[in-house]
Amino acid sequence: MKKDKAQNSGQNIYKENENVLLNFLRCLIILEKTLERIARQNYYKRSQYPELFIQIEQAICIARAWIMSHKIFSGFPIFQTLLAVFIKGITDKVAVLIETSRPAKGKKAKKNNFRARQQEQLYKSVDSMIGHLIEFKDKIQIFEEPMSDEIEEALIKSFKKDCLKEYKKRRKDLVSQRGEKTYIFPWKDPAEYLVLVADTKQFRIEVINKLGDHAHATGHKPDCKCQKNYKMRGFRSIPRKTYIPGGEKQEFPIRMAECLSCGQLFSLLPSFLPREKNFSIDIIGQVLRDIVLFAESINGVLENMKYLCGKEIKSKQTIFNWLKWMGTHHPATLLTRAGVTSSGYFQEDEGFEKEPGLRTYSVVMVEPQTMTVWHIDYTDHVDEETLTCSFEEFVKKIDFKVLGVAKDRWEPATNALKNVFHGVWIGFCHLHCLKKMSKALSAYQKETQCSDKEKSRLYKKFKKVLKTAASAASMKAKLKSLDDEAFEHPLLKSRVNELKENAVRYTSHKSRNGITTTTSMADNFLKIIKRKLRQVGSFKDKDCAKLFFKATANIRNFVPFLSGAKNAHKSPFMLAGGETYDLPWMQVMNMHNAFLFTPNAF
Ligand SMILES: [Zn+2]
Repeated sequence: MKKDKAQNSGQNIYKENENVLLNFLRCLIILEKTLERIARQNYYKRSQYPELFIQIEQAICIARAWIMSHKIFSGFPIFQTLLAVFIKGITDKVAVLIETSRPAKGKKAKKNNFRARQQEQLYKSVDSMIGHLIEFKDKIQIFEEPMSDEIEEALIKSFKKDCLKEYKKRRKDLVSQRGEKTYIFPWKDPAEYLVLVADTKQFRIEVINKLGDHAHATGHKPDCKCQKNYKMRGFRSIPRKTYIPGGEKQEFPIRMAECLSCGQLFSLLPSFLPREKNFSIDIIGQVLRDIVLFAESINGVLENMKYLCGKEIKSKQTIFNWLKWMGTHHPATLLTRAGVTSSGYFQEDEGFEKEPGLRTYSVVMVEPQTMTVWHIDYTDHVDEETLTCSFEEFVKKIDFKVLGVAKDRWEPATNALKNVFHGVWIGFCHLHCLKKMSKALSAYQKETQCSDKEKSRLYKKFKKVLKTAASAASMKAKLKSLDDEAFEHPLLKSRVNELKENAVRYTSHKSRNGITTTTSMADNFLKIIKRKLRQVGSFKDKDCAKLFFKATANIRNFVPFLSGAKNAHKSPFMLAGGETYDLPWMQVMNMHNAFLFTPNAF
């Protein structure tokens, strides 16, 4: 008797499990049919399908594949729960798709209540099946197998790997292509944004109508004759969740716009949100600035994060990723992208730092008037060939002519500059020259025991020639006034000869206004790099160092100088006439698409 009952219930359970399995598959079919209907109602061809459509399609495909390969476990409650949750998730997405799909030109628009009915029906049919399952969940018994715990664990593992991870990965592929289909608009404040985004009319006035002014050119369909006119097109299916300063993670709905001429959809991101990062852009900015300009250590930064946004970051990798992000673009690329140009006059210098086991040279070119860093590179040599390569990379990224460069006497660099920038004027740094003279005088004093007064007199005489000569010819003439016997001494004579030899270079600032007589701006910037290199000891590899150098240059260009400085509250970028939209520096960078990495975006 007892045995019979057990057998009966065993058969029931088997039937029930088969029903559950069929119901899951039916759910997927319903979802698929709904997708087909949405496509038929709104679009003519696949290329018009929104991103969410493709996402859902893939999710269904993944779920079905998993069911088929794991169906013998359909009796396990965990099998059913995992799938029920996943399918419910897909259903929600389809509902959003119904809500946001708008017909392509020529397709008839559906009324709102039609869409509401469609959603309702979908939920009803899915609920009736998954609801049925959940109803039975308590009643379903499974064969008590000694292995069941392990099987459950294995099922969860497989589900995570084959379903969730796979889905996430495919979604990410879609997302990374999205950069160029995202427009950033100037909007500083998160709280005010939440008000704006809820107000359709205001959003149209503040954002949509002004979109043509700061939308970058790509992302449209190939045949688009873009008039830079857009209309509102609902919200992204997934809002952005972002840590903001002084607060918790917050959710920001993201609106979309459609190009009136090609129908391409664009996401509209306020400037305080970065593309593809979980932290508000101002938090990332503060961390990077502290590390690069204020010599904060990585550990110190990790500590500060707790106070900055209430969120602890455990891994240094996050910070390194941010640095990498900041250093992806060459400074000239960003400045050019932001519409800034240069006078064409620069200071060039190389810094040298010994790292354990390797030598690091940094090469920089800074525009002295604005202090913008236009070129930065990492090289393991500073010979003519290496430097020529480095400058060639730079010249590819600019749309102006390099007219003049102030530098020290290092000949390989002079030759490299002349190789790359044709007809460039080169001026030698007076400070370097005077320093050498000063050193020579000290050696001379040691040898001849001359008085300090005499030493100082000789220095002043030499300096006067350097400073007052108006041309190469006048310098040569003035050098003749250095007729003291002291200047005949080999130590000093070599200095005088050097001046004579390079008279053109030491006086080029007289004929070319933009050339400076020192390289102080380049030196100042190199100091920042040196200090950081010393602090961290070494970078892992060449690429890592290169990224760091570029990140440092980009940060230096966009962060305003501190109060008390000569150009307090102004950044080099601002001094160069860059547009800031009245935003914090990191948002300024975001506005100018500093974090847009899709190739050919400009
Ligand atoms: Zn278009």
